[in-house]
Formats: sequence, C-alpha cells, structure tokens
Amino acid sequence: MTTHSQLLNVTGANLIAGRESRESSDRFTAFDPRTGDPGELAFPEATPAEVAQAADAAAEALDVLRAWPAARIAGLLRAIAAHLEDVGDALIHLADSETALGPERLAGERARTCAQLRAFASVVEDGWHHEAIIDHRDPQATPPRPDLRRMQTPIGPVAVFGASNFPLAFSVPGGDTASALAAGCPGVAKGHPSHPGTSELCARVILAAAEDVAAPSGVFSLVHGRGHEVGQSLVLAPQIRAVGFTGSYRAGRALFDLGAGRQDPIPVYAEMGSVNPVIVTRRALAARGEQIAEGFVASMTAGAGQFCTKPGIVFAPEGDEGLEFVGHVARLLRSAELGPMLNEAIWQGLGEQLAATAGIPGVETVVWGARGAQGFRIAPSLFKADAKAFVDHPQLRAEHFGPSALVVTVPDGALSDTISQLDGGLTATVHAEDDEADLADLRRLLEAKAGRLVWNGFPTGAAVTFAQHHGGPYPATTAPAHTSVGATAIRRFQRPIAYQDFPDSRLPAELRESNPLNIPRLVDGRWVDRQPPGTRKTESP
Ligand code: NAP
Repeated sequence: MTTHSQLLNVTGANLIAGRESRESSDRFTAFDPRTGDPGELAFPEATPAEVAQAADAAAEALDVLRAWPAARIAGLLRAIAAHLEDVGDALIHLADSETALGPERLAGERARTCAQLRAFASVVEDGWHHEAIIDHRDPQATPPRPDLRRMQTPIGPVAVFGASNFPLAFSVPGGDTASALAAGCPGVAKGHPSHPGTSELCARVILAAAEDVAAPSGVFSLVHGRGHEVGQSLVLAPQIRAVGFTGSYRAGRALFDLGAGRQDPIPVYAEMGSVNPVIVTRRALAARGEQIAEGFVASMTAGAGQFCTKPGIVFAPEGDEGLEFVGHVARLLRSAELGPMLNEAIWQGLGEQLAATAGIPGVETVVWGARGAQGFRIAPSLFKADAKAFVDHPQLRAEHFGPSALVVTVPDGALSDTISQLDGGLTATVHAEDDEADLADLRRLLEAKAGRLVWNGFPTGAAVTFAQHHGGPYPATTAPAHTSVGATAIRRFQRPIAYQDFPDSRLPAELRESNPLNIPRLVDGRWVDRQPPGTRKTESP
C-alpha cells in the first residue's frame, strides 16, 4: 500500500505505468502567478519514447479493465476521491502556488472533483451507461428481423489534456479522466505546463488508488510537457483511441485536425470556450436591473474571469434601462478585487486583445483593465458598443478569456439580427419576466447557438448531474453531440457493439435475457427498469 508520505512526494517526474521516468534533460518549472517567479522544482519534458511507453501500458491495462465487474471500476473511482481528500491541504497549497486561484476556490474545486468521481462510480454501478438495448427476433415483421442486442463498450485508451483554469476538476483527476475510467478506459494525461506539480501530485493520488484496488499499473500515466510535441505525439500514439481536451480554440482545433489526420482517425473531444451571451429585456432591467448587474459581475469575475462559461457579452436594450445597467456594472467592476491570471501567456494575450478591442471604431471603453505592477495581475474591463459596431466587427464576438465584458446596446426589433451573428457557444442566458410575450423566437435562435440555455440565472458553475450538457456547436466544441460534464460525458469514451442472433450464453452479461446484472435496458422499444432488490432471480454473470 502506498503511504501518504510517498504520495506527497512530488519529485518532478513523468509517471509511466506506476514508475517515475525522466529520460530527457529538457526541464521546465511552474511560475507563481502572484510574483512571476519560477518554482523551485524542475519537471522533465516527456520524450516520444516515454509517451509511447505510457500508451502501450494503457493498451495492456485495457484488456484487464474489460474483465472487471462494475463494482471494481466504481471502487477505483471512489478510491481516487478518498485519496484526493486524504492529501489534505498539501494539494490546495501546491495548486494555489501554481495557479493563484486561492485556497477557498481550490478547496471547492476539490470537493466538486471528488463528488464527480463518486457520481461516476454510482452511474457505473447502476449500469445505465451501457445503454443496453434488446430487440427480440420477430419473424412476422416485414422484413423478418433477427435478434439484435446492442451495448456500449470502452473505446480504448484515452488521452486527457489538463486545463489551466481548473487544475483539479478539468485536469488530471477531472471529468475527462473520471468519465474515461468510468467507461473502462485507461488514461494518459498530458499535464498542463502551468501546474505541473499539481498534475504530478494528482497522478500519484490516482496511482495510489489504482494500487488499492489492484488495478494494472498502466491504468493511468502522466506525461509532462511545455511544448506542443508531447501533446502531439500523445494524440498520434497508435494505442490512443480518443482525446479529451479543454483549452484554447487554437490548441483544440490543432489537436482535432491531428486526430482526424491520422491514418486511423480518432475523435478529439475539444471544449474550446465561448462568449456565453446574456440577453436582458427592458422589463427585466426595469424590475431588477441592479440585481442582474450584481449577479453578472459576480459571474464574470469568478476565477478572474477565467471560466469557459464566463458571461462575456450582454445584449441590453438601447435607452435608459440599458445605460443604467452599464452604470451599475461599471461601478461594481471599479471596486472589484481580482486575483492574478493563471499564467504569463494568458495575461499577455488578454492585455493585447483588450488594447485591440478598445481601438475598434464604435467601441467605448467604460472601465479599463490596467495591468498590475507585480505578477500576472489585471483589473476588470468593460466595453460598450452599439449593435451596428457589433455586427461590423467580428473581433467583438471573440472570447476575451479573463475579467472583461462587452455590453451591446440593441434597438427595439433588432435583437434577432444582432445575436444571429454569434458563433456557437456553450451557454446562452436570458433575463426576462416570466409573462413576457415574444420570447419563443429568441429561444429558437439561442437553441441554434448554444448547448445550455439559462433562464434568469448565470452560466458559471456547470452542475455535475445526469441532465447536464456542457458542450455546444462549433467552435465551442469539436463534437456538438457530446458533453464534457455530467453522467453522459462517459459516452465520449464508448463505442457501441451490436450482437446479431448470438446464443444467450455467449452474450455479454449486460445483454443476457435474464438481465443477471439487473441493469436498466430498452427491450423491444420500452425502458425496462431494474427489478427492485429481493424480487429478482439471481444468476451469476
Ligand atoms: P491552451 O493553450 O489551449 O493549452 C492547453 C493544453 O494544450 C496545454 O497542455 C498545451 O500545452 C497544449 N497545446 C497547446 N497548443 C497545442 C498544439 N498546437 N498541439 C498540441 N498541444 C497543444 O490553453 P491554456 O494554456 O490554458 O490557455 C490559453 C488560452 O486558452 C486562454 O487564453 C483561453 O483563451 C483559452 N482557454 C480556454 C479554456 C476553456 O475552458 N475552454 C480554458 C483555459 C484556457 P503545450 O503548450 O505544452 O503544448
């Protein structure tokens, strides 16, 4: 059994099939976002050979996991959650030193990460994720049909790219890893270069959990990299069958193209961000404009604006209500105190983008986001433009990743034409009164633009539930049919197989006639739920 003192021992290593590996002398460090100073520990860039070893080990582990019962996969997920909690404040301090997100936020993120792992464990035990479907033979049908039974199976080893802005919930122990393992797929994570220590500690936690449940050592590996080569060789590794990614459009699209360009193309599920428009009606502003402004500022400045669901553009009606709203938001932003941004590249990139936006004709800078003197600090920004400027200048429709927002004032009757310019996004929010007429068209328009529609709320915080959809039309994601949050995130890492006219004894247990695993199934077009405990016949799978 791995002891906690061993677990906490971050040494600056790739972790490949349960062992430390440092083949390259090429090293990099994290940087403290509060000071800009480099960290003390150096991390080795993974070599192509190390990436290949990790992918090989994952392929070997796949065969073992395929034979595991659900309870054992669930046990692995729960053990990861337990170890993540057991490492205590050490994880929070380390993540804070690399991200400056603050202990409170990071403790909350760990709680979310653990809850997510446990939620996936429950889904696996329930068996719902197999999507078992049975169509019995029907000789009377026209044409007569055979016995067909279908279920989801693990797609194979999954490459996971950690995101800079969620060092836990969307990184090494995050949703992609949890859903890949839940599907029965081993994972190889490419740690984000902004938080290599956090990545390594979390990978050690996963390996300790793997040891607890006697999982094969290749079930999870971590490769470090601060250059594109490591991630690229991982996506090209022949054993990798799917990729989970959260980050920039540029990187997500490059990795998607790489996966598609392989001789055997693989899916790259890239979640690449969004402007998350908020539409506020005149009546909503008249009824509660100040309250909406408060909620908006809290949502837009959470995590220094570094959420993929940050509301970045507000469409407000032209006239007094809209101007008052801008005034409320500006007042709140001027007194907002924000932490530094995650890394120098994001900080520099936002600074350059803000300067370019401020120079666009028709754009008024209401609050200017000056850069701080130390570390990667920047104050919040607010811009205002009219609908014509918004339509004329596509740069205004691009995500400004950080504490910045744009209010577009829209004349009556021009809302549909204005928001039809938006690209596909993760979310869209409406603030309106419940009895307002004429919102049906707006809903239809937003359905074409976003994966989650929010009513009188704010989009930050994507709850981990069965019904969640954290995805959306391109360019928000490369796979609009899928979500990276919630129970159905598992589907990304599964592949259906249909069995035609197989004898019952040769079928997987999930599809046998007697339902020995007692899982929910769709039988001849109707959902048949599990039998309650105590009422079912037992049969060993
Ligand atoms: P990023 O640049 O997209 O990097 C994410 C991961 O992809 C890193 O591991 C990065 O490592 C790798 N990568 C980048 N370009 C690659 C390429 N061409 N080939 C292979 N791997 C590549 O994200 P970031 O560093 O977190 O932030 C940069 C920007 O991303 C932000 O300014 C923001 O616009 C956006 N962002 C979006 C979200 C979101 O939630 N959708 C989250 C964070 C950031 P290497 O550089 O070592 O290759």
